[in-house]
Amino acid sequence: MLKHVQSDRLANEASQVIVGGVNSPSRSFKGVGGGNPVTMARGDGAYLYDVDDNRYIDYLAAFGPIITGFNHPHIVKAIKRAADTGVLFGTPSEHEIIFAKMLTDAIPSMDKVRFTNSGTEAVMTTVRVARAYTNRELIVKFSGQYHGHFDLVLVEAGSGPSTLGATDSGGVTRGTSKEVITVPYNDVESYRAVMEKWGSQVAGVLVEPIVGNFGMVAPKPGFLEAVNDITHEHGALVIYDEVITNFRFRYGAVQDMLGVIPDLTAFGKSIGGGLPIGAYGGPSEIMDTVAPLGPAYQAGTMSGNPLSMQAGIACLEVLQEPGIYERMADFAVQLKEALLEAGKKQAIPTVVNQIGGSLTVYFTDHPIENYADAKDTDTERFGHFFKAMLDEGINLAPSKYEAWFLTIMHTQEDIDETKRAIDKAFAKLV
Ligand code: PMP
Repeated sequence: MLKHVQSDRLANEASQVIVGGVNSPSRSFKGVGGGNPVTMARGDGAYLYDVDDNRYIDYLAAFGPIITGFNHPHIVKAIKRAADTGVLFGTPSEHEIIFAKMLTDAIPSMDKVRFTNSGTEAVMTTVRVARAYTNRELIVKFSGQYHGHFDLVLVEAGSGPSTLGATDSGGVTRGTSKEVITVPYNDVESYRAVMEKWGSQVAGVLVEPIVGNFGMVAPKPGFLEAVNDITHEHGALVIYDEVITNFRFRYGAVQDMLGVIPDLTAFGKSIGGGLPIGAYGGPSEIMDTVAPLGPAYQAGTMSGNPLSMQAGIACLEVLQEPGIYERMADFAVQLKEALLEAGKKQAIPTVVNQIGGSLTVYFTDHPIENYADAKDTDTERFGHFFKAMLDEGINLAPSKYEAWFLTIMHTQEDIDETKRAIDKAFAKLV
């Protein structure tokens, strides 16, 4: 058993002064049967070290952003350079242009971009822009998808809210809840029916094109194409939330891998090298709706700050290295096979959704294609599995609704060690 003496001490201290002891609810261990979260002291490559000096192979990747590992020298150098030359100007700086060009070059659907400080801000603004552009108010979203923590999208939200068993947040007004219509993911007919009824009032549909927030779930063939067609037939905009998927499976957005192009896209996480970041963009015709050119206001004292810009540029430079996405996907396939094999060996019904360098393990015997499927899996067993893996020195997300993320720092030795841990953890589940 790993010892967590200092971690427990700090968790108790934290809970006196920080709500729930955490600055984001997903970090608590509520979704895995309780207990104190582990307090980490430092990261190095693919590893995290806690305050008791236990080492973990990390697949949380800070819920996604750490795709290049914890202290990639190229990114560290960029951050130090930015710190040395002033962390915030409140004026334009050249790195904003360089980063914007890198993104618009990598993502053809986007002529222009705006940087924000989080994925939440990015998605929130795409909604405002869609409303300003179409002069309509309703938004459609898919149940169990998570788009950040602004009011409108905390209706049937996945990820953290699902983990805590509260998909609708307190504090969201009935008026706001009425502005959003929720339909099941991967269900064209439900979407068509909603749009036939409400389409003339719908400003846009929010879509995680590949879901990352009730685990990794791929679109069924034709689903995204149908969503695009139906949305456009009704004069509404398609908004992709690529906060998890951007630069996850390829250098660029996942929309170009899937061959389905939205009108607006929100970005975040992996584009920032671990610093606070978000971005949104699209064609000039739509983006020029944003202030100071147009009526949709969006701003930010910290937006486009030199630290995030230079870390982001360095991160994208690192992600251009040939072969990295193939290697992450190969490792993810190996982990998937190890999980399925261990499930078979111990007669534990196990399903793994693996997409590129990401995967989710579900304890169930049915496929996971939508949120209802993901809910209907063994939460208690996941909790036991999570804790058994942690005890073997493997750090996963503490929720059955999250994903494992490979990083470019994982090695074959890490994967082999993880496979051994999987075997041991499954043996403990019986
Ligand atoms: N959209 C998606 C798809 C996400 O997964 C998240 C975060 N998990 C967000 C938006 C919100 O991003 P942030 O936490 O940076 O505000």
